[in-house]
Amino acid sequence: MPKLSDDYSTLSREVAAAGARLVVVTKTHPVELIQELYDLGHRDFGENRVAELEEKHARLPKDINWHFIGHLQRNKVKNVLPLVSLIHSGDSLRLLREMDKRADDSRVDVLLQYHIAEEKSKYGLTPESGRELLESIRKEPLENVRILGVMGMATYTDDKEQVAQEFRTLHEIYSSVKAEYFEEEPTFSEISMGMSGDYEVALQQGSTLVRIGSLLLGKRNYD
Ligand SMILES: *Cc1c(COP(=O)(O)O)cnc(C)c1O
Repeated sequence: MPKLSDDYSTLSREVAAAGARLVVVTKTHPVELIQELYDLGHRDFGENRVAELEEKHARLPKDINWHFIGHLQRNKVKNVLPLVSLIHSGDSLRLLREMDKRADDSRVDVLLQYHIAEEKSKYGLTPESGRELLESIRKEPLENVRILGVMGMATYTDDKEQVAQEFRTLHEIYSSVKAEYFEEEPTFSEISMGMSGDYEVALQQGSTLVRIGSLLLGKRNYD
């Protein structure tokens, strides 16, 4: 399998050169493939389904940093918390409060997910709903949940200028939230943006975490 290791080292060097970190998105892919990347030294993997994460977590080395990148239902929070190092999809106050309650005095790291694409989606904050969430947290702070930054997905389009504009918007949201709510907190520092089709644009716009699956691992088979 020299190909995967070559592609991996090229990609991880490119991402590191831009000052960002690579999360390899392994949803639908088998544990053997994750083990192969693990053996090459990779530790950050992204999954978007709780049951799949639980199974993979059980079968793979315990020093993997799992990133939860899908919509998280509140009734799954207690299952996910012990398994993950970062939840990218913090998209509501109720979800964050549930995490805080279930954290059991351990720390939970989370990103605020914003809806920046033109496509309609049920998930993701707007600048306004994000502000409401942050104001509520300011009044009644979270004890165990630590907000480390923002996450977003651009529109699925070949129009690079549009994608760049959406990532710029997310970066602006990050900067204003940081200035207003996290000025004193150096750990608020992450902008999770960029997938296979648009990670280069995302890196140009200041991404700190790119989430890449198919470019490295090939097409997903959902059967
Ligand atoms: C699947 C997924 C990715 C990776 O997508 P690719 O196009 O395969 O790189 C990134 N982010 C999220 C939230 C995803 O669900």
